[in-house]
Amino acid sequence: MRRKLAAGNWKMNGTREDLAQIDAMLQAHGACRCDLLICPPATLVQAACDRARGSTLMIGGQDCHDQPQGAHTGDISADMLADAGARAVILGHSERRQNHGERNETVRAKTAQAWQAGLMAVVCVGETEADRDAANTLDIVGGQLAGSIPDAATGANLVVAYEPVWAIGTGRVASLDQIGEVHDFIRGRLERRFGTGVGRSVRLLYGGSVKPDNAAQIFGVSNVDGALVGGASLTARDFSPIVAALDAST
Ligand code: PEP
Repeated sequence: MRRKLAAGNWKMNGTREDLAQIDAMLQAHGACRCDLLICPPATLVQAACDRARGSTLMIGGQDCHDQPQGAHTGDISADMLADAGARAVILGHSERRQNHGERNETVRAKTAQAWQAGLMAVVCVGETEADRDAANTLDIVGGQLAGSIPDAATGANLVVAYEPVWAIGTGRVASLDQIGEVHDFIRGRLERRFGTGVGRSVRLLYGGSVKPDNAAQIFGVSNVDGALVGGASLTARDFSPIVAALDAST
């Protein structure tokens, strides 16, 4: 059985006063049967971990470097995240792939670093609108999966987030059929590469304008084990109904 996971990506949002949102989420979801993960900006990781210690809420980073240490000004290593108390890291988000030119090989090296540091990697894949219009979605997602994930994947160290680029931060959500098609495809690819045991144990998240009013429907789609949420994870007011919908779907 895969435990459901609600993950929040705060992106470049949040200062210390926003830690109150972590407190509110902790209060609201103490009895939740799902796993919860919030990935605040790097400046807040340690303080968020201090708040969440001993709870079921995990704190994660939004990126790490593909090397363990060295002359990489402005970057953060997987070990540094783990040292600050993080338990997971988002890797290969489309904003990193697009704005920082991250290729699959880089994401794969970062994922290996994350695993070395004991972090769960949330590896993001997803097509652009042009890819979808050209009927290339499955080719693109298949290539990203093959290229971005090292061989040592397990259900504990890997989560895959399917995030159509055109649905991120736009208010446009993939249709339930589109989500189902890609999630079933990802599941098949993971089973083929890693064997059915591992392939069936990796959690698959949908991401792209998940909101309180569409979450329940999305969580009803086959092979959707939760969500990676951007904008609606910034406040407990928006994130809590999404968590509640996921909990109700278990
Ligand atoms: C994201 O950034 O991963 C994301 C899914 O953002 P949003 O929920 O705001 O579309």
